[in-house]
Amino acid sequence: MKKKISLIIPCYNEEESLPYFYKETKSVLGTIPDYDAEFLFVNDGSKDRTLSVLKELASKDDRVKYLSFSRNFGKEAAMYAGFCNATGNYVAVMDADLQDPPSLLPEMLKILESGEYDSVATRRVTRKGEPPIRSFFARMFYKIINKISNADIVDGARDFRLMKQEMVDAIVEMSEYNRFSKGIFGWIGYRTYWFPYENVERVAGETKWNFWKLFKYSLDGIVNFSQAPLTIASWMGILLTALAFIMTVFVVVRRVVFGDPVAGWASLVCIIVFLGGIQLFCLGIMGQYLAKMYMETKKRPHFIISETNDESMIKVK
Ligand code: UDP
Ligand code: MG
Repeated sequence: MKKKISLIIPCYNEEESLPYFYKETKSVLGTIPDYDAEFLFVNDGSKDRTLSVLKELASKDDRVKYLSFSRNFGKEAAMYAGFCNATGNYVAVMDADLQDPPSLLPEMLKILESGEYDSVATRRVTRKGEPPIRSFFARMFYKIINKISNADIVDGARDFRLMKQEMVDAIVEMSEYNRFSKGIFGWIGYRTYWFPYENVERVAGETKWNFWKLFKYSLDGIVNFSQAPLTIASWMGILLTALAFIMTVFVVVRRVVFGDPVAGWASLVCIIVFLGGIQLFCLGIMGQYLAKMYMETKKRPHFIISETNDESMIKVK
């Protein structure tokens, strides 16, 4: 029996890129006729004609399946819905904008077939076409998160990767509400081959990420995969207590020995404001973890599918 590849494609307002994506991917699949394939398009609450485009593709090609969310749940939820419903022996996640070149698929397959690896992940070696400030912060983020968490996150890693079914099962098992896939892929382990390639620009449409969204996403990544901020907050408390103790001794000795009159309200105000700031900062850190916990305990579904062309799909999870 032929082995099957499932391609999971999260789509949010991608009516312009989808025809290009489908055409190019179809021709690449034509070069590997020994494999069956299924397209699993996940329409993440698009506000444009994405769903109609998907329906049209599905009517012409029975390898095309689509799931349509009841609203925009985000790319992480879209990928999760794909993983829950993929039936292939090999599963890949791909962007709809051709920034993850389908032409790499045959080679990635070959590496998996060699049996030495369980997944082939892609890594951008250049950040060409990206604003320098964004690249700078991205590099810093990878440095920090690798220092303070045990999830191995590679700089420039994309979500584009081809995996064996058992790895996908492990990902589905990680049913946490606050999802950060780059961390999850690293956390579950398995032997991963890193495939370097040059950055490609979007074929059509616009990116859904701005600097602020990326910044918040990176903070989420840190809170999801590391307790280091909590440790830092505790250490800051211990250090400041020690400092306060030394200062008290200093002030008392100076009063007793030199009998200085009371002065220095300005420095006092600075210290009070400084300490107030640090306390709020630490409280904020705790609040971040508490907020995540709050969402986890609610056990809300990750996604709700309102429409699909395959009734066997898991619709709410
Ligand atoms: N995407 C999604 N839901 C969202 C945002 C994005 O499904 O809320 C999809 C989008 O359609 C695309 C992929 O995630 O296929 C990557 O998004 P984008 O190209 O905007 O990100 P970038 O490549 O610029 O990082
Ligand atoms: Mg993109």
